[in-house]
Amino acid sequence: MDTEHLLAALPADEFSVAEEGPLDYLLYNTCGFIGDAKEESINAIFEGVEAKRRGETHELLVFGCLSERYANQMPELIPEVDAWFGARDLNPLLRYLGAPPSRFTRRRQENRRGYAYLKISEGCDRRCSYCAIPFIRGPHKSVPIEDLVSEATQLASEGVSELILIAQDTTFYGLDLYGRRALADVLKALSEVDGIERLRIHYSYPSEFPEDVLEQMASNPKVCKYLDIPLQHISDGVLGCMHRHIDAAGTRSIIRRLREKVPGVVLRTTMIVGHPGEGPDEFQELLDFVREARFERLGAFTYSEEEGTWGATHLEDSVPEEEKRRRLDELMTLQSAISLEFNRSRIGTVERVLVDDVVGDTLVCRSQYESPEVDGEILVPKTADVPVGSYLSVRITEADEYDLKAVPAT
Ligand code: SF4
Repeated sequence: MDTEHLLAALPADEFSVAEEGPLDYLLYNTCGFIGDAKEESINAIFEGVEAKRRGETHELLVFGCLSERYANQMPELIPEVDAWFGARDLNPLLRYLGAPPSRFTRRRQENRRGYAYLKISEGCDRRCSYCAIPFIRGPHKSVPIEDLVSEATQLASEGVSELILIAQDTTFYGLDLYGRRALADVLKALSEVDGIERLRIHYSYPSEFPEDVLEQMASNPKVCKYLDIPLQHISDGVLGCMHRHIDAAGTRSIIRRLREKVPGVVLRTTMIVGHPGEGPDEFQELLDFVREARFERLGAFTYSEEEGTWGATHLEDSVPEEEKRRRLDELMTLQSAISLEFNRSRIGTVERVLVDDVVGDTLVCRSQYESPEVDGEILVPKTADVPVGSYLSVRITEADEYDLKAVPAT
């Protein structure tokens, strides 16, 4: 998304994107959150160094989370890079390139699809014990509603009809800017943008969940009855260790309110297994909770120490790796059965789907209950020329725990 903002901010009469050299600038947007992503970013930069040696680019520039997180080490490690910019340094980067500053309310989308992610805020004021994001992305900063509307309007004019609202913590939106939680205002404002048909909320934080968001989900037809709400655990002891500022009773309460106030809502959550403080009893508590709450979608990770976090410096990574993997497998086996039961319950229903892609003779689609990249797909045989980004009514005919099959509804 930062790349799309940056490309849109560069004056088109002075800058163009080229795949091959000779280039004036070769830019890398990097990720520095977890080991694999860091390695991938560093490997890509070294490829850039080689390209510079071969004379394929005049300058090599790097921005994003990796350069933010390792601002002191990276210039020494890779001196061939001409300039490093942090995760929030898009305007300094524009200045370096000789382009005017921007508010970044426009995007240049490389892949045209019917959906787009919309970052409503950046950074995080929380301090979950296992997470390095607040050190990398800085304090929470909301994007003004008028800027979000203007970005949504541009995206809609280019064929986007589904916006997936993301942030490090979407339910925190507004506190810094308006002195109150204002995610519901964002939903209202965006649902009035011509061409926007679906709004989907990701990364909502369970504690102090804004009640007016539940009202929007229940009554605003453009807000998907779908919520991504990472819970991470249910045991009071583990949640306390994680610094999540919510306990088991508070967690059960928000899940109950969601199910009651938004009938039919599909919940996606994330859990961490093997966090310090999770013994066999706490893990059993987690399994019992997942069995009870019946999340339609659930992803899980094994705990790993992230350098610089409170967990890495104050907690002992006490669960052996093999045991973490075993717990992950047990949890995901349980979840597979729950997801399968949910998907099978949809056989025979008619759902409105958005066409994300056309692969051979198959339309790859999603209903309001699926988010792209993390959830399954609805596969529909192509019976007519249906462009990507259009909507269809389909009848679900088959289901496994991830994907569904459907036929056009008559
Ligand atoms: S896990 Fe989410 S809420 Fe917690 S510190 Fe990280 S970004 Fe913030």
